[in-house]
Amino acid sequence: MGTYVVTGSASGMGKATAERLRANGHTVIGVDIQPADVVADLSTPAGRRAAADAVRSACGGRLDGAVLAAGLGPTPGREQPALITQVNYFGVVELLAAWRPALAAGDRAKVVVFSSNSTTTIPAIPGRAIRALLAGDGDKAVRALRLFGKAASSMAYGASKVAVSRWVREHAVTRDWAGAGIRLNAIAPGAILTPLLEKQLSTPAEAKAIHSFPVPIGGFGDPGKLADWVVFMLSDAADFLCGSVLFVDGGSDAYFRATDWPASVPAWRLVPYLRRFKRNESFSQ
Ligand code: NAD
Repeated sequence: MGTYVVTGSASGMGKATAERLRANGHTVIGVDIQPADVVADLSTPAGRRAAADAVRSACGGRLDGAVLAAGLGPTPGREQPALITQVNYFGVVELLAAWRPALAAGDRAKVVVFSSNSTTTIPAIPGRAIRALLAGDGDKAVRALRLFGKAASSMAYGASKVAVSRWVREHAVTRDWAGAGIRLNAIAPGAILTPLLEKQLSTPAEAKAIHSFPVPIGGFGDPGKLADWVVFMLSDAADFLCGSVLFVDGGSDAYFRATDWPASVPAWRLVPYLRRFKRNESFSQ
């Protein structure tokens, strides 16, 4: 049996994942701003440091997996863009950086980060905000979002989820992650009926937008079934899964972007591979 950390363990998909892992006999260290094993506010650097340290000591320096589910939705509001980017982006990458040695000490540890299908279904998410987040500059990201007015929260949400997905894919394949035996992947849910979505549905304007949004399968996803996907991505079945973003969204991404993916790799990206091929060298990160 393994030891797993689950952020956002007090509600929705994080809670359902923690319950399933515990039911399977694993030890779970839950992290949340609401009652949990480790209570911390992931919207502040101090809260993230406290969460990172508490989990490091609770797990005894070894983790078999991590699920990063704590997050905020695109609720409108003046302070929301900053909060959303802090929790959804820095609340993932800073914790993962702190827990990486413990994950490397585990046996084929698996990490599942919560992205969203908003990454591919919100139009015109500002690249400047995404780049600022990836550069670690939250203030610059928020400044880049201001010009969107009422849509700033929605753009902050999209930017935070694109940035975290890119962070996952860029890091997953490196020596520090894949090279250390850690499988780093993301899941991109569509509309899942959790307290986060229920809150959005309670606002008439947001409810209207959600109900008219194309979901080819129809209806909303079930948090328990999403948690089943996460548990699968933590299992031995996922030993060969690395740097993937798995969409579980009732078909919305395919509806909008059926021909955008798969897309072939630009030839220049193959240059290092061709050099190794010429020199008869095998791949190493
Ligand atoms: P939820 O609101 O039910 O659960 C989120 C949890 O995160 C809560 O327990 C909350 O207390 C915690 N959290 C929020 N702010 C925090 C903070 N500052 N510090 C510590 N913990 C904090 O939401 P959910 O729907 O289960 O969402 C889980 C993840 O999935 C989120 O990252 C969300 O963005 C993402 N997501 C949700 C949906 C959806 O439709 N529900 C769709 C796509 C992606």
